[in-house]
Amino acid sequence: MAYFGNLTCRDCGLTFTAGWGSVAGADEYRCERDHVIYADASWGAVLEVDGAPGDGRTLAEVRGLCPLCSTELASGLLPCCPVCDGRDHDVLLAGTG
Ligand SMILES: [Zn+2]
Ligand SMILES: [Zn+2]
Repeated sequence: MAYFGNLTCRDCGLTFTAGWGSVAGADEYRCERDHVIYADASWGAVLEVDGAPGDGRTLAEVRGLCPLCSTELASGLLPCCPVCDGRDHDVLLAGTG
């Protein structure tokens, strides 16, 4: 399920609009530097790396690390705050899709 809405950063108080969450057939992962990776939900092929097409490797082949910056990937994360990079936010959902 993909979500979009307003996030209010608990660290600096900034409110920003963002989208996050898995899309049909693909799971969303984020690295520590907030690159967004989509991977095929059934066999783990990396489909998209921060808006660019994946290079055909799977999550296992990249060992769960971001192909761009080699920090650890995790699913179910909220977007980072664009000001302070914090990831602890109050969420005001505007919708799902
Ligand atoms: Zn912040
Ligand atoms: Zn990264």
